[in-house]
Amino acid sequence: MLTRRFVMSGIGSSIGAAAIAPVVCGPALSQETATVHAIKVGQAVLTTFSDGTMSMPLDWALPGRPRDEIAATYASQGQTLGDVTLQVNVALIRLPGELILVDTGAGPDFAPMRGKLADALSRNGIQPAAITKVVFTHAHPDHFWGVLDPFDGATLFPNARHMMPAAEVDYWLKPGVETGVPDAVRGAALGTQRRLKDLGAKIETFAPGAEIVPGITALDTSGHSPGHVSLMLRSGAEALLIGGDVLIEPVISFARPAWPWGPDWNGDRAIKARLSTLDMLATDKIRLLGYHLPWPGVGRVERLATAAPSYRFVAG
Ligand SMILES: [Zn+2]
Repeated sequence: MLTRRFVMSGIGSSIGAAAIAPVVCGPALSQETATVHAIKVGQAVLTTFSDGTMSMPLDWALPGRPRDEIAATYASQGQTLGDVTLQVNVALIRLPGELILVDTGAGPDFAPMRGKLADALSRNGIQPAAITKVVFTHAHPDHFWGVLDPFDGATLFPNARHMMPAAEVDYWLKPGVETGVPDAVRGAALGTQRRLKDLGAKIETFAPGAEIVPGITALDTSGHSPGHVSLMLRSGAEALLIGGDVLIEPVISFARPAWPWGPDWNGDRAIKARLSTLDMLATDKIRLLGYHLPWPGVGRVERLATAAPSYRFVAG
């Protein structure tokens, strides 16, 4: 339940746009809740921290899709249709000699209810200076803007290597990037560009297939954004995919993965990424941590149908 709300203005258009949806943001979950969720993946300890919640209007998320059809899909999974409300789950991976943050939340400039990640880490005994690597799945505001101190524009993680997919950096740094996105998100595109420039040489780039550290590999799941990656964490016999935004919405992304999703940059590529990721997770029985899935974002994927691919997210 949201206790306070902040509505960002504007509703953008649809597929093909490098879109960052207009959102309604809620508060972060309590720090106590956040600390409770730590799981082991082989030798790795994976903790989820909440940066809050965000909602978006249905006609932004699923442009042109009849409401009845959406409601029927929700009902088929025992859910009631409302606006799309999403968690923001930031993952921290502890490995011997490494403390790796995957994405950094939205920071305070995207919406006033955000930007609590550094506080949440500190309250739980994680000093930002102890983070060894910050790895970004992509550069949308809710994943990237939390990296900078709002007062001095420096990174909040002074000792970390900052790593982002090269295709993502190239896209957002392109002069005139804001002209290729819907009016409603031009400010967000420029905001991302400015932060990348502020970080400058601090940003290291990598390509899909790169091993971030032994046991963590970047997989190409581009489509939601130009260089989007997901991170496969393998340790011993266990594996878990930190999906980023390859699977965003807990019902639609799974039950109807071939439906266009409004905020995706390239609809066809995003659908392809969703389908191949779901197939892999269901076939290989690999757990998923979804950035926007119900807190704490961890679960499994169950295959429901193959002809018209359909799946279910099972939390836990
Ligand atoms: Zn996101």
